Amino acid sequence: MCDLTAPEFQDEDIARKHIEANRWPDGPVCPHCGGTERNYPIKANEKKKIRKGLYKCNDCKTHFTVTIGTVFEGSRVLLNKWLMAIHLMCASKKGISSHQLHRMLGVTYKTAWFMAHRIRESMVDDNPPPIGGKGKSVQADETYFGNVEKPRTVRVDGTPYLKKGKVANKRPIVSLVCEGKARTFHVKRANAETVREILVANVSRETELHTDESPIYTRLGEEYAAHKTVNHSKGQYVRSDGMTTNNVENYFSVFKRGMKGVYQHCKEKHLQRYINEFDFRYNTRDLTDAERATKALQGIEGKRLTYRRTGNGAHV
Ligand SMILES: [Zn+2]
Repeated sequence: MCDLTAPEFQDEDIARKHIEANRWPDGPVCPHCGGTERNYPIKANEKKKIRKGLYKCNDCKTHFTVTIGTVFEGSRVLLNKWLMAIHLMCASKKGISSHQLHRMLGVTYKTAWFMAHRIRESMVDDNPPPIGGKGKSVQADETYFGNVEKPRTVRVDGTPYLKKGKVANKRPIVSLVCEGKARTFHVKRANAETVREILVANVSRETELHTDESPIYTRLGEEYAAHKTVNHSKGQYVRSDGMTTNNVENYFSVFKRGMKGVYQHCKEKHLQRYINEFDFRYNTRDLTDAERATKALQGIEGKRLTYRRTGNGAHV
């Protein structure tokens, strides 16, 4: 079901059951002790202030609900609105602004902004395995998006920027694409050192590296099984052997269109979160909107985002 009239988007109890079925396919799991055998639902009772969806674990004698330890924990927003927000973010190819979410969900703008950031957290894979490997190739490229908030007027060595150097006041972004999946990073500066750090941490050494002719990759390329380049300045985009960096460039174009159209006021400190959202949608582009939303829902666990981490004092 991917229609916005689906019951889990309308009713909080159905939404909770939907989340429970997703998070606990084999029955409730106590988040405190991991117990699965002796968990019992407790009947809701307004007089006794027992909320709906409460369970008791008889192993460790604690109470819990399905939202404990997830991005929903501590939120007063109805769970059906959370599910709707996840669906909207997953179904909007270029993203959806917090203003739009605020209007569509009937929550305040601040709340919508905060929900969107929490949902972005659930789209992140915290422990991604290295990409590439023997017989595989990784396309690496960098681009620039938006201006840095504190532009530097001099270079690191103290000399003033020439016209050509203006790019250093943009926000650099490095992306790696392997087998149709992107992994993207906002870096302070895109140079041989920072790009190497990212590649070494993410790309297996047995990989064939595909880049443009940028000198950033020249020495780095020697650390990989092979290094092939296309020469963009000579108008070459696909080599005769089929090697290209077009996939990573396509990724950048989707990303930039979304950022310009929807998230144009994104602060630098939040940029990585927006990047994560674009990575997630790009990497799940073969799924239906509903399947993508289910995948995001599976990421809610262990991602509790505190107010301090988003730099926002609002309560949701
Ligand atoms: Zn327990």
